[in-house]
Parts: sequence; C-alpha cells; structure tokens
Amino acid sequence: MNVLSNRAKSLKPSPTLAINARAKSMQAQGIHVISFGAGEPDFDTPRNIKAAAVKAIEEGFTKYTPVGGTEDLKDAIINKFQRDNGLTYKRSEVLASCGGKHSFYNLAQAIFDEGDEVIVPAPYWVSYPPMVALARADPIIVETKEENGFKLSMEDLKKALTPKTKALIINSPSNPTGSAYSKKELEEIADLAVSKNFFVISDEIYEKIVYDHFKVVSIASLGEEIRKRTVIVHGVAKTYAMTGWRIGYAAGPEEIVSAMSNIQSQSTSNPTSIAQKASVEALGGPQEDVAKMVTAFEQRRNYIVDRLNKIPGVSCFKPIGAFYVFPNFFSYYGKSYQGKKITNSTELADYFLEVARVAVVPGIEFGADPFERLSYATSLEDIKEGLTRIEESLKNLA
Ligand SMILES: *Cc1c(COP(=O)(O)O)cnc(C)c1O
Repeated sequence: MNVLSNRAKSLKPSPTLAINARAKSMQAQGIHVISFGAGEPDFDTPRNIKAAAVKAIEEGFTKYTPVGGTEDLKDAIINKFQRDNGLTYKRSEVLASCGGKHSFYNLAQAIFDEGDEVIVPAPYWVSYPPMVALARADPIIVETKEENGFKLSMEDLKKALTPKTKALIINSPSNPTGSAYSKKELEEIADLAVSKNFFVISDEIYEKIVYDHFKVVSIASLGEEIRKRTVIVHGVAKTYAMTGWRIGYAAGPEEIVSAMSNIQSQSTSNPTSIAQKASVEALGGPQEDVAKMVTAFEQRRNYIVDRLNKIPGVSCFKPIGAFYVFPNFFSYYGKSYQGKKITNSTELADYFLEVARVAVVPGIEFGADPFERLSYATSLEDIKEGLTRIEESLKNLA
C-alpha cells in the first residue's frame, strides 16, 4: 500500500519558503545572514487596519461568515475594482478566500480538468505549475526573454496554443521579474483570447506596487468579451503588508465564481472573520501608507538595479513593479570555488548562502536557470551590505 497519493508525492514544498527557513536556521546558529529571500513587505500592517481587526474581536465578530466573504468585504472589493480599474462586478462575481494563493487554487479546481493545457509564461510564480497540476491539467511553460522585458511575445503565445488550451496565466507586475504589460500588449493578448476562446487568469496582486508612474491596466477592463473570459486574482497581502492575515480575492464570471465558492464551502469555509474586517479597512480606508511603502521600494529598486548592473558579468532588468529583481548570473556558471564548479542557479544560491551569507532564491524555481531572485523588501542598509557580499564572493570564482 502506498501511504502517499501520487499527487502528494509529486509535490515539493514552496522553494521560497524553504530558502527562508534555511536562512533563519543559520541566523539561529548565530550566523549573520542577509536575506533577499523574503516574499513579503518588511513593513508592519498599517495601524488603521490593525485597529479594525481589534475592533472586530472586541465586538465579537468571531464566528463563521458567508463562505465567500461578508457583504461589506464584497462591497469593498467591488468598489476597489470600480475605482481602480473601471470594472463593475456584482456580489455574485467576487469571492474572498484565504489569500491570493487560495483564490488561484480554488479557480484551478473550478475550471481545469485532465487534459486541459494552461499556458504559464516563464519566469513564473513558483506556485502556478503545481496548482495547475494539482487540478490535473498540464502547465505549458512558454519562455520569455530578458531582452523583451520578460514579456510573452505574441508569436510564442500563438505557437503554444492548441485546441486543448484552456487558459493563459498573466502576472503583471510579475513575481519574480517585476515586468509589467502595457495596455497595448494586453489588448493583443485579449484579442487572441477572444478569437481563440481561452480564459485569462490575471494575477494582479502587485497592481499597487509600481514605479515611474506606470499605469497598471487590468486585461478584464479591455472589453465585454475579454471580461467574460478573465478571472482576476488579487489580495491585500502585498499592497497592505498583510501577508499573515490571509485574505485574497477573485473576480470573474458568476458561473466560475460560484463554483469556486462551492469548492471553498467544502474545504476551508470562509476566510478569517476578523481579517475580513481588517481588509474592508485596507481596501476602503486611507491609502497613504501604501504610497509611503511604494516610495521606499522604489528607492531600493533604483539602488539595487544600479549596483547589480555594475557587477562585471551581471545584467539586471529594471523592474516596473513588485519588490524583486531577477539578475542574470549566467556568465559565472562554469566557474569554480575551491575546486567545486558552479553550474546552475541552485549551486550559485548555495554558494551565496554558504560563502557570502546571503540568501537568494534560485531562478530555476521560477523556470529560468540563468537568474537568481532577490527581494528588496528589506532595509536599504541590508541591501547595501548584501550586495557588497555578493560582489566580493563573485570575485572568488575562477
Ligand atoms: C504573494 C503572491 C500571491 C498571493 O499571496 P497570498 O499571500 O496568498 O495572498 C499571488 N501571486 C503572486 C505572484 C504572489 O507573489
């Protein structure tokens, strides 16, 4: 008898969480590690949001709520889409879940079947391929190029389409590259989705974390036909420094959202009641703290990109959004340290952790081996020190 299901056996833990665990355990042994591994803002959740949760506890708002979220949370989500994206959704077209990841998971369970193909542009967020596979569909990885700003070319997208194509995943701004699609690029993708009749899953979790006045456009807002074929995955985690609160949300056609709600009703039930109240405040309350965080991220981005590009043999795309850089270290592969050859992103990340005491996430985890992912959701002081360590350690490779 097999103890584990084939599904479970094929899964490994999220690599980003694993790297952070390793860095923390070195820290616990007294080793000073600088971590670029974090997938979350280093800021505290804004006070007004925390206060809303405290109030909810004190008022006894601590019981089950409707599965897909309270009416006030659904309305806050609806208002957000109206205000920011010009999109009008009804309560039956939005659903709150236990994080954006959970929203995506429910969606995959709701629309994918065995044999379906789901186009996942690489570099991709680590959790897309496993969540697609858990829904028994096939992730079809389509590579993008650094010189194209890590964006899917229409030519490559067209080549990947088959009669089995059920959906395309777009994550703009992107984790791990920070690239983002322009309105014109999204229009081309939308036209293709409508003419070839596939769904677009638009992960817009980094919508608010953008630089240089870039205007994020939701592909769902580009017309009625594409709106009918788009499900937006979103959440409060990144914008409001609320990763631990576990509130994400989705918006899309009623038929799909209702299926997602059924899945949620038989698995997790509602997301946490008090976190829902906090999220109502996050989405509807003052937004000044978001602007402050984005200003700090932008300053760090400018610094980190500049320094990385000054390291011989390293190139780094300048992100438009999110809080990661995805530098290319390929020219160092094949070099050695103390007789040990470094041949890929995992070995280079190990080298950085062991020798430079710097934690980064190997690009291979995002489907792009020449690269490493560095999060700049950490202090400018740590960024400076960490980059000096990386720079020095690279000099020791020959
Ligand atoms: C962080 C993240 C999410 C969702 O995070 P939750 O904590 O589950 O809300 C979704 N997509 C991407 C690309 C992310 O980086």
